Amino acid sequence: MKRLLVFVIAVSFGFGARAELRLHVFDCGRLAFPDVGAFGIGNDDTGVRELFVPCYLIDHDGELMIWDAGLPLSEVGPRREDDNAWYETSIIDQLAAMDIAPGDIDYTAYSHFHYDHVGAANAFASATLLIQQSEYEAAFETPETNPVFRPELYDQLAESDKIMLDGDHDVFGDGSVMIISAPGHTPGHQVLKLELENFGPLVLSGDLYHFEASRRLRATPVFNTDAEQTLASMDKVEALVAETGATFWIGHSLELAESLNLAPAWYD
Ligand SMILES: [Zn+2]
Repeated sequence: MKRLLVFVIAVSFGFGARAELRLHVFDCGRLAFPDVGAFGIGNDDTGVRELFVPCYLIDHDGELMIWDAGLPLSEVGPRREDDNAWYETSIIDQLAAMDIAPGDIDYTAYSHFHYDHVGAANAFASATLLIQQSEYEAAFETPETNPVFRPELYDQLAESDKIMLDGDHDVFGDGSVMIISAPGHTPGHQVLKLELENFGPLVLSGDLYHFEASRRLRATPVFNTDAEQTLASMDKVEALVAETGATFWIGHSLELAESLNLAPAWYD
């Protein structure tokens, strides 16, 4: 009888109450580039010479997941003259202002392991890491093959509980938070699709594109692992966006960043 009751409650929850999902966006620094040629676009294609660096916190019925962890914490401090990277308040302090400690985070997933996405990763080593097998091999086993990997920022994750992925993954089992495999920028690059009740479907780009112009021009940075694979991932993600009517956020877009409601505000 007790079993039956548990079953009935589980079923009614599954079909009745929708999980409450919130997305918080944090300012985790800026990067400046006098020349944007390395991104596969020309200096005439955009007037933007700065990239916003976001961190995200997803709250799924109280289960917390970090998606991307910003610039290295060593960058935190006031901007000095001629700095091409700056970061005002660490993600750790921004979370603390919301009464969240690194140890409260249940899951972490990173669009990829470049240094501007895993800057605080070691602080979240107690969380379960969701990572593509291919990204794990590149970032942990052969990091010397990619100068944008800085293993000292994430080496403690070698000991973390992990869920190894090989493709798309439904994080909470209800379709509300989907990791979408989109390799090419790095071997296991991925984007995130959220089903927000009020905002609607939203896709977070990772580094599928860096600038608004990158999307318009289908440009692939010279430092991508595989340009052809990147173009195939662009096709896959653009098809998903078109099919679902999702809003698409280019994470590094300065224009987008200026329009965002940053944490502690949220999107739901
Ligand atoms: Zn990046």
